[in-house]
Amino acid sequence: MERKNAWNTYDEEECGKLHDIAEQYRQFISRGKTERECAGLTVEMAKAAGYRSLEEVRQSGEKLQPGDKVYAVHKKKLVILYAIGTKPLEEGMNILGAHIDSPRLDLKQNPLYEDGEMTLLDTHYYGGIKKYQWAAIPLALHGVVAKKDGSLVTLSIGEKADDPVLGISDLLIHLSGEQLQKKASVVVEGENLNIIVGSRPVKTGEDEKEKKEKEVFRKAILELLERDYGIEEEDFLSAELEAVPAGAARDFGLDKSMIMGYGQDDRICAFTSLKAQLEAEHPVYTAVCLLTDKEEIGSMGATGMQSRYFENVTAEVMELAGQYSELALRRCLQNSHMLSSDVSAAFDPNYASAFEKKNIAYLGRGMVFNKYTGSRGKSGSNDACAEYIGALRRIMDEAGVCWQTAELGKVDQGGGGTIAYITANYGMDVIDSGVALLNMHSPWEVSSKADIYEAYKGYKAFQKAEWE
Ligand code: MN
Ligand code: MN
Repeated sequence: MERKNAWNTYDEEECGKLHDIAEQYRQFISRGKTERECAGLTVEMAKAAGYRSLEEVRQSGEKLQPGDKVYAVHKKKLVILYAIGTKPLEEGMNILGAHIDSPRLDLKQNPLYEDGEMTLLDTHYYGGIKKYQWAAIPLALHGVVAKKDGSLVTLSIGEKADDPVLGISDLLIHLSGEQLQKKASVVVEGENLNIIVGSRPVKTGEDEKEKKEKEVFRKAILELLERDYGIEEEDFLSAELEAVPAGAARDFGLDKSMIMGYGQDDRICAFTSLKAQLEAEHPVYTAVCLLTDKEEIGSMGATGMQSRYFENVTAEVMELAGQYSELALRRCLQNSHMLSSDVSAAFDPNYASAFEKKNIAYLGRGMVFNKYTGSRGKSGSNDACAEYIGALRRIMDEAGVCWQTAELGKVDQGGGGTIAYITANYGMDVIDSGVALLNMHSPWEVSSKADIYEAYKGYKAFQKAEWE
Protein backbone atom coordinates (compact mmCIF):
# COMPACT_ATOMS: atom_id res chain seq x y z
CA MET A 1 0.00 0.00 0.00
CA GLU A 2 2.49 2.65 -1.14
CA ARG A 3 1.17 6.20 -1.09
CA LYS A 4 2.11 8.49 -3.92
CA ASN A 5 4.58 11.36 -3.77
CA ALA A 6 2.62 14.60 -4.03
CA TRP A 7 5.23 16.33 -6.19
CA ASN A 8 4.33 14.06 -9.12
CA THR A 9 0.74 15.29 -9.09
CA TYR A 10 1.31 19.00 -9.76
CA ASP A 11 1.10 20.99 -12.95
CA GLU A 12 2.86 24.33 -13.27
CA GLU A 13 -0.09 26.33 -11.97
CA GLU A 14 -0.47 24.22 -8.85
CA CYS A 15 3.29 24.42 -8.24
CA GLY A 16 2.95 28.19 -8.28
CA LYS A 17 0.20 28.06 -5.64
CA LEU A 18 2.24 25.65 -3.55
CA HIS A 19 5.29 27.91 -3.52
CA ASP A 20 3.11 30.92 -2.72
CA ILE A 21 1.60 29.24 0.34
CA ALA A 22 4.97 27.87 1.45
CA GLU A 23 6.40 31.40 1.28
CA GLN A 24 3.51 32.78 3.36
CA TYR A 25 4.20 30.02 5.86
CA ARG A 26 7.94 30.75 5.89
CA GLN A 27 7.21 34.36 6.76
CA PHE A 28 4.63 33.37 9.39
CA ILE A 29 7.06 31.18 11.34
CA SER A 30 9.84 33.73 10.92
CA ARG A 31 7.67 36.42 12.51
CA GLY A 32 5.83 34.21 15.01
CA LYS A 33 8.40 32.61 17.27
CA THR A 34 6.39 32.47 20.50
CA GLU A 35 2.79 31.56 21.29
CA ARG A 36 2.04 35.25 21.93
CA GLU A 37 3.54 36.34 18.63
CA CYS A 38 1.60 33.64 16.75
CA ALA A 39 -1.63 34.57 18.52
CA GLY A 40 -1.03 38.21 17.55
CA LEU A 41 -0.37 37.31 13.92
CA THR A 42 -3.46 35.11 13.88
CA VAL A 43 -5.69 37.95 15.07
CA GLU A 44 -4.13 40.26 12.47
CA MET A 45 -4.85 37.75 9.69
CA ALA A 46 -8.35 37.03 11.02
CA LYS A 47 -9.29 40.71 11.07
CA ALA A 48 -8.00 41.13 7.52
CA ALA A 49 -10.25 38.23 6.50
CA GLY A 50 -13.35 39.85 8.00
CA TYR A 51 -13.36 38.26 11.47
CA ARG A 52 -14.67 40.31 14.39
CA SER A 53 -13.86 40.00 18.06
CA LEU A 54 -16.46 37.88 19.86
CA GLU A 55 -16.28 40.23 22.81
CA GLU A 56 -17.11 43.22 20.62
CA VAL A 57 -20.05 41.42 19.04
CA ARG A 58 -21.31 40.50 22.51
CA GLN A 59 -21.05 44.08 23.76
CA SER A 60 -22.76 45.47 20.67
CA GLY A 61 -25.79 43.29 21.41
CA GLU A 62 -25.81 41.88 17.86
CA LYS A 63 -26.84 38.32 17.09
CA LEU A 64 -24.60 35.95 15.16
CA GLN A 65 -25.97 34.79 11.80
CA PRO A 66 -24.82 32.05 9.43
CA GLY A 67 -21.86 33.43 7.49
CA ASP A 68 -20.63 35.58 10.41
CA LYS A 69 -17.01 35.20 11.46
CA VAL A 70 -15.72 35.80 14.99
CA TYR A 71 -12.55 35.18 16.97
CA ALA A 72 -11.73 34.97 20.66
CA VAL A 73 -8.28 35.33 22.26
CA HIS A 74 -7.42 34.10 25.73
CA LYS A 75 -4.59 35.78 27.63
CA LYS A 76 -2.93 36.66 24.31
CA LYS A 77 -1.82 33.04 23.84
CA LEU A 78 -4.77 31.00 22.62
CA VAL A 79 -7.02 31.90 19.69
CA ILE A 80 -10.28 30.34 18.49
CA LEU A 81 -11.99 31.31 15.24
CA TYR A 82 -15.58 30.49 14.31
CA ALA A 83 -17.22 30.81 10.90
CA ILE A 84 -20.90 30.30 11.64
CA GLY A 85 -22.54 27.60 9.51
CA THR A 86 -26.07 27.24 8.19
CA LYS A 87 -26.74 24.09 10.24
CA PRO A 88 -27.78 24.55 13.88
CA LEU A 89 -24.73 24.45 16.15
CA GLU A 90 -26.08 21.52 18.09
CA GLU A 91 -25.50 19.38 15.02
CA GLY A 92 -21.80 19.87 15.62
CA MET A 93 -18.88 21.85 14.25
CA ASN A 94 -15.93 21.05 11.96
CA ILE A 95 -12.94 21.80 14.13
CA LEU A 96 -9.29 22.23 13.16
CA GLY A 97 -6.98 22.22 16.19
CA ALA A 98 -3.24 22.80 16.47
CA HIS A 99 -0.82 24.26 18.99
CA ILE A 100 1.32 27.40 18.73
CA ASP A 101 3.78 26.83 21.59
CA SER A 102 7.12 25.23 20.73
CA PRO A 103 10.10 23.85 22.64
CA ARG A 104 12.47 26.58 23.79
CA LEU A 105 14.47 27.92 26.74
CA ASP A 106 12.52 30.08 29.21
CA LEU A 107 14.40 32.47 31.45
CA LYS A 108 14.19 31.67 35.13
CA GLN A 109 12.51 34.25 37.34
CA ASN A 110 15.81 35.26 38.91
CA PRO A 111 18.06 34.72 35.91
CA LEU A 112 20.87 37.28 35.90
CA TYR A 113 24.33 36.53 37.30
CA GLU A 114 28.00 37.00 36.52
CA ASP A 115 30.74 34.43 36.38
CA GLY A 116 34.20 34.38 34.81
CA GLU A 117 34.01 38.06 33.80
CA MET A 118 30.80 37.43 31.85
CA THR A 119 27.10 38.02 32.45
CA LEU A 120 24.65 35.17 31.94
CA LEU A 121 20.95 34.39 32.07
CA ASP A 122 19.82 31.17 33.71
CA THR A 123 17.08 29.19 31.91
CA HIS A 124 14.63 26.37 32.46
CA TYR A 125 13.86 24.57 29.21
CA TYR A 126 10.26 24.22 28.00
CA GLY A 127 9.16 21.02 26.26
CA GLY A 128 11.28 18.08 25.18
CA ILE A 129 14.68 19.03 23.84
CA LYS A 130 18.04 17.40 23.23
CA LYS A 131 19.95 19.89 25.34
CA TYR A 132 23.23 19.56 23.47
CA GLN A 133 21.53 20.91 20.32
CA TRP A 134 21.12 24.32 21.96
CA ALA A 135 24.78 25.08 22.62
CA ALA A 136 26.90 27.10 20.19
CA ILE A 137 24.01 28.38 18.09
CA PRO A 138 22.74 31.97 17.80
CA LEU A 139 19.75 32.60 20.05
CA ALA A 140 17.20 35.41 20.10
CA LEU A 141 15.22 36.59 23.10
CA HIS A 142 11.47 37.10 22.70
CA GLY A 143 8.71 37.84 25.15
CA VAL A 144 7.17 40.26 27.55
CA VAL A 145 8.04 41.90 30.83
CA ALA A 146 5.04 42.89 32.96
CA LYS A 147 5.90 45.90 35.10
CA LYS A 148 4.38 46.55 38.49
CA ASP A 149 2.55 49.61 37.14
CA GLY A 150 0.59 47.39 34.74
CA SER A 151 2.58 48.30 31.62
CA LEU A 152 4.01 45.61 29.38
CA VAL A 153 7.42 45.76 27.68
CA THR A 154 7.60 43.58 24.56
CA LEU A 155 11.02 42.30 23.54
CA SER A 156 12.42 40.76 20.38
CA ILE A 157 16.21 40.82 20.32
CA GLY A 158 18.29 38.91 17.80
CA GLU A 159 16.13 38.76 14.68
CA LYS A 160 17.04 41.90 12.75
CA ALA A 161 20.29 41.88 10.76
CA ASP A 162 21.90 44.50 13.01
CA ASP A 163 20.60 43.00 16.29
CA PRO A 164 23.07 41.19 18.52
CA VAL A 165 22.45 37.48 19.11
CA LEU A 166 22.92 35.55 22.36
CA GLY A 167 24.05 32.02 22.99
CA ILE A 168 25.11 29.11 25.17
CA SER A 169 28.76 28.08 25.09
CA ASP A 170 30.04 24.58 24.36
CA LEU A 171 33.31 23.08 25.51
CA LEU A 172 36.15 23.10 22.96
CA ILE A 173 36.83 19.70 21.38
CA HIS A 174 40.42 19.80 22.66
CA LEU A 175 39.24 19.54 26.26
CA SER A 176 36.18 17.39 25.71
CA GLY A 177 37.69 14.00 26.45
CA GLU A 178 35.63 13.61 29.60
CA GLN A 179 32.49 15.26 28.25
CA LEU A 180 32.35 13.01 25.18
CA GLN A 181 32.33 9.90 27.35
CA LYS A 182 29.02 10.98 28.88
CA LYS A 183 25.56 9.88 27.77
CA ALA A 184 24.07 12.31 25.22
CA SER A 185 21.32 13.21 27.70
CA VAL A 186 23.89 14.74 30.06
CA VAL A 187 26.59 15.96 27.65
CA VAL A 188 25.02 19.36 28.18
CA GLU A 189 22.95 19.41 31.35
CA GLY A 190 19.73 21.35 31.80
CA GLU A 191 21.14 23.44 34.61
CA ASN A 192 24.04 24.48 32.37
CA LEU A 193 21.84 26.00 29.67
CA ASN A 194 23.00 29.47 30.62
CA ILE A 195 22.84 32.20 28.02
CA ILE A 196 25.78 34.58 27.70
CA VAL A 197 24.59 38.17 27.38
CA GLY A 198 27.65 40.31 28.13
CA SER A 199 31.34 40.55 28.90
CA ARG A 200 31.96 44.27 29.36
CA PRO A 201 32.04 45.65 32.92
CA VAL A 202 31.05 49.09 34.08
CA LYS A 203 34.17 51.21 34.56
CA THR A 204 35.47 51.49 38.09
CA GLY A 205 38.73 52.69 39.46
CA GLU A 206 38.58 50.45 42.50
CA ASP A 207 40.61 47.42 43.42
CA GLU A 208 39.76 43.85 42.41
CA LYS A 209 38.01 42.98 45.66
CA GLU A 210 35.65 45.91 45.42
CA LYS A 211 34.94 45.17 41.74
CA LYS A 212 33.85 41.70 42.71
CA GLU A 213 31.58 42.98 45.43
CA LYS A 214 29.98 45.44 43.05
CA GLU A 215 29.45 42.77 40.37
CA VAL A 216 30.56 45.13 37.61
CA PHE A 217 29.66 42.77 34.76
CA ARG A 218 26.14 42.15 36.00
CA LYS A 219 25.76 45.83 36.75
CA ALA A 220 26.66 46.75 33.16
CA ILE A 221 23.85 44.61 31.77
CA LEU A 222 21.40 45.93 34.35
CA GLU A 223 22.25 49.48 33.31
CA LEU A 224 21.75 48.54 29.67
CA LEU A 225 18.37 46.90 30.36
CA GLU A 226 17.24 49.99 32.24
CA ARG A 227 18.49 52.38 29.56
CA ASP A 228 17.33 50.51 26.42
CA TYR A 229 14.21 48.73 27.63
CA GLY A 230 13.15 50.39 30.87
CA ILE A 231 13.50 47.09 32.73
CA GLU A 232 14.92 46.70 36.22
CA GLU A 233 16.08 43.46 37.76
CA GLU A 234 12.93 42.83 39.80
CA ASP A 235 10.90 43.00 36.58
CA PHE A 236 12.31 39.57 35.63
CA LEU A 237 10.02 38.21 38.35
CA SER A 238 6.98 38.95 36.19
CA ALA A 239 8.36 38.26 32.72
CA GLU A 240 7.89 35.61 30.07
CA LEU A 241 11.12 35.67 28.13
CA GLU A 242 11.86 32.85 25.73
CA ALA A 243 15.20 32.14 24.07
CA VAL A 244 14.67 30.69 20.60
CA PRO A 245 16.99 30.03 17.63
CA ALA A 246 17.76 33.39 16.01
CA GLY A 247 16.99 34.10 12.38
CA ALA A 248 14.36 33.51 9.75
CA ALA A 249 13.21 30.19 8.32
CA ARG A 250 14.88 29.34 5.01
CA ASP A 251 14.27 27.32 1.88
CA PHE A 252 15.98 23.96 2.34
CA GLY A 253 17.54 21.73 -0.32
CA LEU A 254 19.14 22.66 -3.65
CA ASP A 255 15.70 22.27 -5.21
CA LYS A 256 14.09 24.46 -2.51
CA SER A 257 11.49 21.74 -1.95
CA MET A 258 11.65 22.02 1.83
CA ILE A 259 11.69 24.62 4.59
CA MET A 260 14.08 24.71 7.53
CA GLY A 261 12.92 26.77 10.47
CA TYR A 262 12.34 26.94 14.19
CA GLY A 263 8.98 26.10 15.78
CA GLN A 264 7.41 24.13 12.93
CA ASP A 265 6.03 21.86 15.67
CA ASP A 266 3.27 22.86 15.56
CA ARG A 267 3.01 26.14 13.71
CA ILE A 268 3.05 24.19 10.47
CA CYS A 269 -0.37 22.73 11.33
CA ALA A 270 -1.49 25.99 12.96
CA PHE A 271 -0.71 28.04 9.84
CA THR A 272 -2.26 25.61 7.35
CA SER A 273 -5.36 25.15 9.54
CA LEU A 274 -5.69 28.91 9.96
CA LYS A 275 -5.29 29.50 6.24
CA ALA A 276 -8.07 27.00 5.51
CA GLN A 277 -10.28 28.52 8.22
CA LEU A 278 -9.86 32.05 6.85
CA GLU A 279 -10.99 30.83 3.44
CA ALA A 280 -14.07 29.01 4.80
CA GLU A 281 -16.93 31.22 3.63
CA HIS A 282 -20.55 30.31 4.44
CA PRO A 283 -19.83 26.80 5.68
CA VAL A 284 -22.64 24.30 6.24
CA TYR A 285 -21.27 23.16 9.61
CA THR A 286 -19.76 25.91 11.73
CA ALA A 287 -16.04 25.92 10.92
CA VAL A 288 -13.69 26.32 13.87
CA CYS A 289 -9.95 26.78 14.13
CA LEU A 290 -8.49 26.35 17.59
CA LEU A 291 -4.87 27.37 18.13
CA THR A 292 -3.84 26.39 21.62
CA ASP A 293 -0.89 26.88 23.95
CA LYS A 294 0.99 24.63 26.42
CA GLU A 295 0.78 21.44 24.35
CA GLU A 296 4.48 20.81 24.73
CA ILE A 297 4.18 20.65 28.51
CA GLY A 298 0.97 18.66 28.81
CA SER A 299 -1.77 21.13 27.80
CA MET A 300 -2.26 22.30 31.39
CA GLY A 301 -2.92 25.88 32.44
CA ALA A 302 -5.57 28.42 31.50
CA THR A 303 -4.32 28.64 27.91
CA GLY A 304 -3.80 24.89 27.47
CA MET A 305 -6.32 22.55 25.88
CA GLN A 306 -7.23 21.08 29.28
CA SER A 307 -8.78 24.38 30.35
CA ARG A 308 -12.52 24.94 29.89
CA TYR A 309 -11.93 27.95 27.67
CA PHE A 310 -12.96 26.29 24.40
CA GLU A 311 -16.18 25.01 25.94
CA ASN A 312 -16.93 28.42 27.50
CA VAL A 313 -16.37 30.33 24.28
CA THR A 314 -18.48 27.86 22.32
CA ALA A 315 -21.26 28.50 24.85
CA GLU A 316 -20.89 32.26 24.20
CA VAL A 317 -21.06 31.70 20.45
CA MET A 318 -24.21 29.59 20.81
CA GLU A 319 -25.77 32.22 23.06
CA LEU A 320 -25.04 34.96 20.52
CA ALA A 321 -26.48 32.77 17.77
CA GLY A 322 -29.64 32.36 19.85
CA GLN A 323 -29.04 28.63 20.17
CA TYR A 324 -27.68 28.17 23.67
CA SER A 325 -28.87 25.73 26.24
CA GLU A 326 -26.71 23.49 28.41
CA LEU A 327 -27.97 20.46 26.50
CA ALA A 328 -27.50 22.10 23.10
CA LEU A 329 -23.87 22.87 24.05
CA ARG A 330 -23.27 19.24 25.08
CA ARG A 331 -24.78 18.08 21.80
CA CYS A 332 -22.75 20.57 19.80
CA LEU A 333 -19.49 19.31 21.30
CA GLN A 334 -20.38 15.63 21.03
CA ASN A 335 -21.61 15.93 17.44
CA SER A 336 -18.49 17.77 16.31
CA HIS A 337 -15.75 16.39 14.11
CA MET A 338 -12.16 17.38 14.61
CA LEU A 339 -8.75 17.13 13.02
CA SER A 340 -6.38 17.46 15.95
CA SER A 341 -3.26 18.38 14.10
CA ASP A 342 0.29 18.04 15.19
CA VAL A 343 3.53 17.11 13.55
CA SER A 344 4.55 13.54 12.74
CA ALA A 345 8.02 12.08 12.41
CA ALA A 346 9.17 11.79 8.81
CA PHE A 347 11.26 8.79 7.80
CA ASP A 348 14.91 9.71 8.20
CA PRO A 349 17.37 7.58 6.19
CA ASN A 350 20.14 8.50 8.64
CA TYR A 351 18.23 6.81 11.47
CA ALA A 352 16.28 4.18 9.57
CA SER A 353 16.31 1.71 12.46
CA ALA A 354 13.96 3.90 14.53
CA PHE A 355 11.16 3.58 11.99
CA GLU A 356 8.89 0.88 10.61
CA LYS A 357 8.92 1.57 6.90
CA LYS A 358 5.33 0.61 6.06
CA ASN A 359 3.84 2.76 8.82
CA ILE A 360 5.90 5.89 8.88
CA ALA A 361 5.29 9.23 7.17
CA TYR A 362 7.53 10.29 4.29
CA LEU A 363 8.34 13.87 3.36
CA GLY A 364 6.39 14.75 0.22
CA ARG A 365 3.64 12.18 0.54
CA GLY A 366 1.16 14.73 1.85
CA MET A 367 -0.96 15.19 4.92
CA VAL A 368 -0.58 12.61 7.68
CA PHE A 369 -3.33 10.80 9.62
CA ASN A 370 -2.42 8.98 12.82
CA LYS A 371 -5.21 6.67 13.91
CA TYR A 372 -3.51 6.50 17.28
CA THR A 373 -0.44 7.86 19.01
CA GLY A 374 0.67 6.87 22.50
CA SER A 375 3.39 4.52 23.51
CA ARG A 376 3.81 1.04 25.03
CA GLY A 377 0.62 -0.52 23.69
CA LYS A 378 -1.07 2.70 22.48
CA SER A 379 -1.25 3.84 26.09
CA GLY A 380 -2.83 7.28 26.50
CA SER A 381 -3.90 7.41 22.86
CA ASN A 382 -7.17 8.69 21.40
CA ASP A 383 -7.37 5.89 18.75
CA ALA A 384 -9.88 7.27 16.22
CA CYS A 385 -12.89 5.21 15.07
CA ALA A 386 -12.55 3.22 11.85
CA GLU A 387 -15.84 4.70 10.58
CA TYR A 388 -14.54 8.23 11.03
CA ILE A 389 -11.34 7.39 9.14
CA GLY A 390 -13.46 5.82 6.40
CA ALA A 391 -15.36 9.09 6.01
CA LEU A 392 -12.11 11.09 5.99
CA ARG A 393 -10.66 8.86 3.26
CA ARG A 394 -13.64 9.72 1.10
CA ILE A 395 -13.42 13.47 1.86
CA MET A 396 -9.68 13.64 1.12
CA ASP A 397 -9.81 11.49 -2.02
CA GLU A 398 -12.74 13.45 -3.46
CA ALA A 399 -10.83 16.69 -2.90
CA GLY A 400 -7.70 15.28 -4.55
CA VAL A 401 -5.60 15.59 -1.40
CA CYS A 402 -2.40 13.53 -1.13
CA TRP A 403 -2.36 11.90 2.27
CA GLN A 404 -0.69 9.09 4.17
CA THR A 405 -1.10 7.25 7.44
CA ALA A 406 1.62 6.86 10.03
CA GLU A 407 2.71 5.90 13.50
CA LEU A 408 5.39 7.91 15.24
CA GLY A 409 8.03 5.19 15.04
CA LYS A 410 8.59 1.53 15.80
CA VAL A 411 6.46 -0.09 18.48
CA ASP A 412 8.00 0.51 21.93
CA GLN A 413 10.59 2.91 20.48
CA GLY A 414 9.14 5.89 22.34
CA GLY A 415 6.00 7.90 21.72
CA GLY A 416 4.15 11.13 22.03
CA GLY A 417 0.74 12.62 22.61
CA THR A 418 -1.28 15.56 21.35
CA ILE A 419 -4.55 17.31 22.22
CA ALA A 420 -6.87 14.77 20.52
CA TYR A 421 -7.62 12.85 23.71
CA ILE A 422 -8.77 16.04 25.43
CA THR A 423 -11.48 17.05 22.94
CA ALA A 424 -12.38 13.36 22.61
CA ASN A 425 -13.59 13.69 26.22
CA TYR A 426 -16.68 15.45 24.82
CA GLY A 427 -17.45 12.33 22.80
CA MET A 428 -16.67 13.90 19.44
CA ASP A 429 -14.96 12.17 16.53
CA VAL A 430 -11.34 13.30 16.51
CA ILE A 431 -8.22 12.04 14.82
CA ASP A 432 -4.58 13.05 15.02
CA SER A 433 -3.40 14.44 11.74
CA GLY A 434 -0.82 16.90 10.49
CA VAL A 435 2.47 17.28 8.71
CA ALA A 436 5.67 15.23 8.94
CA LEU A 437 8.96 16.80 10.03
CA LEU A 438 12.61 15.89 10.05
CA ASN A 439 14.59 17.06 13.11
CA MET A 440 11.42 17.41 15.22
CA HIS A 441 12.02 19.43 18.43
CA SER A 442 15.48 20.47 17.29
CA PRO A 443 16.33 24.16 16.85
CA TRP A 444 15.94 23.83 13.07
CA GLU A 445 13.14 21.54 11.94
CA VAL A 446 12.59 20.58 8.30
CA SER A 447 9.32 20.19 6.41
CA SER A 448 8.29 19.57 2.80
CA LYS A 449 6.54 22.35 0.91
CA ALA A 450 4.35 19.74 -0.78
CA ASP A 451 3.14 18.53 2.62
CA ILE A 452 2.35 22.10 3.69
CA TYR A 453 0.27 22.55 0.56
CA GLU A 454 -1.51 19.19 0.90
CA ALA A 455 -2.33 19.88 4.57
CA TYR A 456 -3.85 23.21 3.60
CA LYS A 457 -5.90 21.46 0.89
CA GLY A 458 -6.93 18.74 3.34
CA TYR A 459 -8.06 21.23 5.99
CA LYS A 460 -10.07 23.15 3.40
CA ALA A 461 -11.81 19.95 2.33
CA PHE A 462 -12.50 19.08 5.96
CA GLN A 463 -14.11 22.47 6.68
CA LYS A 464 -16.54 21.81 3.84
CA ALA A 465 -17.35 18.24 4.89
CA GLU A 466 -20.93 17.23 5.56
CA TRP A 467 -21.69 14.30 7.83
CA GLU A 468 -24.38 11.65 7.85
MN1 MN B 1 6.10 18.65 20.12
MN1 MN C 1 3.37 19.19 18.71
